[in-house]
Amino acid sequence: MRITDLKCAVIGDNPVIRITTDEGIDGWGEAENSKPYLKPHVLFYRQHVLGEDPTNVERVMLKIRRLGSFKPWGSAVSAIEWALWDIAGKAAGVPVYKLLGGKVRDRVRVYNGGVRFPMTGSEPEDYAADVRRMAASPEGFSLIKAAVAFHSDMPRNVPDFSYGEPHSGPAHPNRAPLTERGLNHVIECVEAMKDALGDRVSLALDCGPGWMLSDAIRFARAVEPLNLAWLEDLLTGDYVPYVHADLYRDLTTSTSTPIHTGEQIYLRQNFKELIERQAVRIVGPDPCDVGGMAELKWVAEYADLHGILMAPHGVIDGAIGLAALVQVSATLPQNYIAFEYPVARPSWWYDIVTGLPNPIVRGGFIDVWDRPGLGVDLIPEAAASHLSEEDKSFFD
Ligand SMILES: [Mg+2]
Repeated sequence: MRITDLKCAVIGDNPVIRITTDEGIDGWGEAENSKPYLKPHVLFYRQHVLGEDPTNVERVMLKIRRLGSFKPWGSAVSAIEWALWDIAGKAAGVPVYKLLGGKVRDRVRVYNGGVRFPMTGSEPEDYAADVRRMAASPEGFSLIKAAVAFHSDMPRNVPDFSYGEPHSGPAHPNRAPLTERGLNHVIECVEAMKDALGDRVSLALDCGPGWMLSDAIRFARAVEPLNLAWLEDLLTGDYVPYVHADLYRDLTTSTSTPIHTGEQIYLRQNFKELIERQAVRIVGPDPCDVGGMAELKWVAEYADLHGILMAPHGVIDGAIGLAALVQVSATLPQNYIAFEYPVARPSWWYDIVTGLPNPIVRGGFIDVWDRPGLGVDLIPEAAASHLSEEDKSFFD
């Protein structure tokens, strides 16, 4: 089998990848809806994969893997990897999980990152109301993640939150030491959320990045009695192109609260120090940033050897991303906690794909499906009306 084309269209705001072959089998990939600008980057790899046998996934990946980097520049390589596995699975007549070693679970637990409601403010009662709404959603989540501190509006909304400048940029605020009031405010919000949830629904916190190590240690120790699932990205993390494993090691060894990072990290090599030094208790690579599904599985296995847990990121990976997360998470070792459930946006995305269960999440789990490949395909007749003029030939 040979690859005859690699195409990319922006559907909604998701770059969608279609790899075609001389045997008429297509493979699909997709990047986050925050990255519509990636289309030319995706097409840069076309020259490197044309003519290759897509069922030799690793051989194709060796041609492009080194031409990527930390978030957002690992997404194109990652999404191409999904499309290759999709084709390989369809060609063999088996779901991708069979090619990644087989499933070790029939259903995969998800945690809530995608079912979101507008925050009414940044006070403890606003946070309590927010997690109450998420816990009441029909998906029945058993684990919910909330955004606090530099990952939230607190630096803008809470007076004298930190010693830093008020933030006005597009990404997360930059780093700053917290004031005593700021630190106490975060703790009060976390206590209010745990009061609202009790211990039937666990709480994880996306915290940054941007904390100073000394503040992070005080925070992690202060919330120890609350048995949080994890504290994510306190020091480095989302859109930070380095890791600082030594600082994470200091933080992790200072507290019993599990420390988590990894969504922006590209490739297993960049998890090596984090894992070997046991610098975190949980890693959270995204299959659309780390280099693909097989890359994520390798990181999970290596983490498991070192007593580190796995909770893949994926909040805006879209409908095809959901399929990739289900396929790989079915194969992960027993250090698997849950993956971050993506909600496809706009909602018409659910009308242009086939293969998703309805409802998708039941009781906090998704049943692993058995269709060949990723098991989720675009419906050209339904999707065509959402193509821009320059992408009109995407399905040809
Ligand atoms: Mg995060």
